[in-house]
Amino acid sequence: MSQRKVEQGRLENRKDSQQDTLILGTAAGGTVRCMSAVTTNLVAEAARRHDLWPTVAAALGRTLTGALLLASSLKELDRLTVQIVSDGPIGGITVEANAQGQVRGYVRNPEAHAPYNEKGKFDVKAVVGCGMFYVTRESGYDVGLYREPYRGSVPLVSGEIAEDFAYYLTKSEQIPSAVILGVHLQPSAPYVSAAGGLMIQMMPGADEKTISTIESTVSKMPQATIMIREGATPSDLLRAALGSIEFEILDEKPVSFACSCSYERAVSLISSIDRAEIESMLREDKGAVMTCHFCNEAYRLGEDELENILQGQ
Ligand code: ZN
Repeated sequence: MSQRKVEQGRLENRKDSQQDTLILGTAAGGTVRCMSAVTTNLVAEAARRHDLWPTVAAALGRTLTGALLLASSLKELDRLTVQIVSDGPIGGITVEANAQGQVRGYVRNPEAHAPYNEKGKFDVKAVVGCGMFYVTRESGYDVGLYREPYRGSVPLVSGEIAEDFAYYLTKSEQIPSAVILGVHLQPSAPYVSAAGGLMIQMMPGADEKTISTIESTVSKMPQATIMIREGATPSDLLRAALGSIEFEILDEKPVSFACSCSYERAVSLISSIDRAEIESMLREDKGAVMTCHFCNEAYRLGEDELENILQGQ
């Protein structure tokens, strides 16, 4: 076997063992719902696609992970959008996740920056700023069985993202929760070296002793991104967070950055705009470029395609 092949094999093995995964579990006789995920690859992909500056990669990565954890208890046809509308240099974050473990998202300003905070870490709070945290749950959108969306909102209480998810769950959904979201970055490629998190939700009937035990173990657990860099799986994270409380895994699935855009959708979007505008694209730009907000994929339509669209209109 050639050296090259060995290296390839090694890379593939590594990829397999580090595939992004999410688990959904239950503990304390069903009174505690717990979910956890390792999202290193999908956060790295988001950072690469959007060319994110480090603090922004941390902010978007935490939001992507939080949205996936929140979406893990959705029904098959549901999806949810987490939107942070804020006055910091990032200008806002939008993330959409579905029950299949697919997530996509973007920020308004990928090049936002802030100096390190007093702990010497990326100052996510400073790039996010103050504002609102929205969660929209939609059902059956893609199959035409559309129901009125549910939208909840709370003010941002922290800007560090995990605390904002926890506050949203507690205030808007009346589910007291502990949330940990982390992204670790290193100075050279691949910049995102670890990402993941967990969510522990106290459902009605959770007793005080369970709640205080969990609060105590969560506050003492090692940093999630350090555990992930050392090879921890989502269930290792939950074990660290729940301590002596046993849990049962109900679902385990791969998670990934995935977008529903396509060349065909770009064409149909251009077909829906004004004839005069398409004529001007043809005249002035000799084509058109459509860039997807969510994944930054650019679709180029040449003169022939634009002519075709005009003929079909
Ligand atoms: Zn896209």
